[in-house]
Amino acid sequence: MPDFLNPIKGFGVTFRQMFRKVDTVQYPEVVQPTAPRFHGRHQLNRWPDGLEKCIGCELCAWACPADAIYVEGADNTEEERYSPGERYGRVYQINYLRCILCGLCIEACPTRALTMTNEYELADDNRESLIWTKEQLVAPLLPGMEAPPHPMRLGETERDYYELGASGIVGGSQPAGDGEIADDSPSAGDGKTE
Ligand code: SF4
Ligand code: SF4
Repeated sequence: MPDFLNPIKGFGVTFRQMFRKVDTVQYPEVVQPTAPRFHGRHQLNRWPDGLEKCIGCELCAWACPADAIYVEGADNTEEERYSPGERYGRVYQINYLRCILCGLCIEACPTRALTMTNEYELADDNRESLIWTKEQLVAPLLPGMEAPPHPMRLGETERDYYELGASGIVGGSQPAGDGEIADDSPSAGDGKTE
């Protein structure tokens, strides 16, 4: 085609689009499911007895390119235990004003404590509400789970818990089915979003 017809060629592309089927979703009245591995808001998972998987190691915070995670670890005691092993995440915050939902933090987590759900409705009208706290991020207690603090119910040592995870026994996640991360064991192929 001669060069002087190039503008017309461009309009041709536009013209063709006008007759294509419109793919408009009437959100928020209609909410379509995301792709199964969509990276949505985070979740802090539990072991099947309700103890938390987070050990307060801060690796997720160090991995985050947007500096969106703040963690303060603390020591478990036999009287007050929140996770198997020595440490737990006493303070855990994710700043969704900064987070770009890239998933590097969940890759860095050594215990599969941190995974991502398919939830994406994170908008709000003030900055404060977009800094999510541990209480908002931690997975709900499922039937059979006990709210921490409490002693280790599934083994004598931290290692017993990790072996449970390795054998495919996993802890609490919010209900799967919407692409939610269901298997959050430390070693399993884990249904995590990647
Ligand atoms: S998803 Fe990415 S940006 Fe968001 S908290 Fe994790 S590492 Fe940081
Ligand atoms: S979520 Fe994982 S990486 Fe982050 S502090 Fe807890 S255990 Fe460590």
